[in-house]
Amino acid sequence: MNTVNATHQAAFYSGLKNTIDELREAGLYKIERILASRQGAEVVDNEGRHLINMCANNYLGLSGNETMVQASIKATEQFGYGLSSVRFICGTQTVHKQLEKALSEFLGMEETILYAAAFDANGGVFEPLFDSEDAIISDALNHASIIDGIRLCKAARYRYAHNDMTDLEVQLKAAVAEGKRHKIIVTDGVFSMDGTIAQLDKICDLADRYSALVMIDECHASGFMGATGRGTHEHHKVMGRIDIITGTLGKALGGAMGGFVSARREVVEILRQKSRPYLFSNTLAPSIVGASLEVLKIISASTQLRDRLHANTAYFRQEIERLGFTIKPGTHPVVPVMLFDATVAQKFAARLYELGILVSGFFYPVVPMGQARVRVQLSAAHSTEQIDKVLSAFSHAGRELKIIG
Ligand SMILES: *Cc1c(COP(=O)(O)O)cnc(C)c1O
Repeated sequence: MNTVNATHQAAFYSGLKNTIDELREAGLYKIERILASRQGAEVVDNEGRHLINMCANNYLGLSGNETMVQASIKATEQFGYGLSSVRFICGTQTVHKQLEKALSEFLGMEETILYAAAFDANGGVFEPLFDSEDAIISDALNHASIIDGIRLCKAARYRYAHNDMTDLEVQLKAAVAEGKRHKIIVTDGVFSMDGTIAQLDKICDLADRYSALVMIDECHASGFMGATGRGTHEHHKVMGRIDIITGTLGKALGGAMGGFVSARREVVEILRQKSRPYLFSNTLAPSIVGASLEVLKIISASTQLRDRLHANTAYFRQEIERLGFTIKPGTHPVVPVMLFDATVAQKFAARLYELGILVSGFFYPVVPMGQARVRVQLSAAHSTEQIDKVLSAFSHAGRELKIIG
């Protein structure tokens, strides 16, 4: 290695180190908790500490569930460990086709295509379908993967203020005025920071008025929103009026990994031909595909898990307010407990950890300045006894830190 090159390399690595130091100083450095157990309502960390877990996307409690483990083992035994191929070369098995069909039926859509993650589904859905003549009208708080997917596409971008139907209409009018050919409104079905449910009934009405398509990202909804858990479109009674649904198998629907796009047959056909994260990335492992089929069987047969989740959510929301905490109002199992001040949120989450409760604190820049919080996420796996323990720890730590009286 010559000296000039060595100097350049040193500058590169010391630059990274400076960035890391800056993150630490700003309190933005993310620490990963290490679990030594399965995911679940109760977890054990690498120091043997037992914690009630209130921050997983394990809405239906299936992540560490024994039925799922057995279903994944069974699928592995039948279909092997992996495919060593993308779908279109030799990576499609009968289970992949079965899962695509089952997801379509569950969501009330024509056809479904699997991806390695919802991040890939959102990353790969726009570019094959829309070009510079088209308009994508996107909620300002949409998930990072939607933002990235839109960036990869040549369509004109219109951003509407979060959940603001007046501004959405302004943007639709602008797209019409600019003579855009196809228009698509894109929104998270549920926004994960506040548990806000998108106003899909109004969005679909606006879409009809301005001849736009509608796409929803159902990562925080599939499996438990709506009367039979089909999602935000069922919740708002607009099934059949949504053009594209993207979602994950990594949250309520089992919790492993994997994503999908559900839409009309023509859309899915184009994606199979042209969507880059689908064409150039390995097929989803049979263990996940087989176990996901089991998830759909469980939640199609009974609404028991979904009902339990909503009962837990209603109970927690009611009791935490009774204790004097401020929460963002709503009905979703994401419950933001507002602390407003970043330092208080950090101290509170740390104290709860000592008391055996795992929650995550969020503060600027993840949420707006002055909106610091701990975000609680309920699961069907939580027992009432566990929720009561959590409430009692919140009460204890809340009084210690003078958050409540
Ligand atoms: C989690 C999430 C994703 C990414 O899902 P993965 O399958 O983990 O890649 C995309 N969109 C939203 C709204 C999410 O919450």
